[in-house]
Amino acid sequence: MNTHRARKRFGQNFLHDTRIIADIVRAVRPQPHDIVVEIGPGLGALTEPLCRALARLHVCEIDRDIIAHLKKQSYAEKLIVHAGDVLQFDFSSVAGKKKIVGNLPYNISTPLLFRLSEYADEITDMHFMLQKEVVERMVAAPESNDYGRLGVMLQYFFDMEKLLDVPPEAFDPAPKVDSAVVRLIPQAGRIGTAQDFAHFSALVKQAFHQRRKTLRNNLKDWANEDDLLANGISPQQRAEAVPPELYVRLSNHLINQNV
Ligand code: SAM
Repeated sequence: MNTHRARKRFGQNFLHDTRIIADIVRAVRPQPHDIVVEIGPGLGALTEPLCRALARLHVCEIDRDIIAHLKKQSYAEKLIVHAGDVLQFDFSSVAGKKKIVGNLPYNISTPLLFRLSEYADEITDMHFMLQKEVVERMVAAPESNDYGRLGVMLQYFFDMEKLLDVPPEAFDPAPKVDSAVVRLIPQAGRIGTAQDFAHFSALVKQAFHQRRKTLRNNLKDWANEDDLLANGISPQQRAEAVPPELYVRLSNHLINQNV
């Protein structure tokens, strides 16, 4: 019997819908010797079925009471517990190509996704429960209202697919927002490689600085019309019309001009 009271500050909404738990585990497809890291195992909704399929499971959890609870479970001997804040966790400390899974604390999901991008070449795939609105921004195509900086930056690293929508009632306590499960698979270089990632990232940020302005305006200190045209971008376009690969191209073009 679980007596843990959900802590808001740790974004604790525990999944209890058995059909959704089964859908997520099926999507993850754990094989006995896979290296899997679960972020925020909580009371074990995903942890337990994952442990049934795996020889061992790394878990990263911040809440000490939750860790104490996990250590008492029948599957505890399969767990390798990393106690602490996942935003500080060095994923390279888990050797090998990893699958990463989690029903994430929504309050840290954006910084966490950006942090995980840094480890893309060590990752096989990731499956996350997130706020539905965030998933829609991640997978958004150019020209849609949801397409923005988050989508461009994550699509640079990952192919992403929304797998299922999850209503608030699937959790206890029920969150105020809808949720969705998304799959991310690293896609090294398919849309090009930024020669200077920091420049690419800053360029994308600037392009979306004022969504309603044209790129000529937002990028006026970065690129002239010829730079834009040479990379297939019309100066009158807005940032939301430009696919990620053209931001990569433009960034590389601008860097090579300044050497
Ligand atoms: N996986 C469980 C489930 O599906 O029921 C719990 C999910 S709950 C939304 C998020 C979990 O992440 C909680 O266990 C919470 O304590 C943990 N958590 C919150 N912030 C964290 C952080 N910064 N680092 C590691 N774990 C964190």
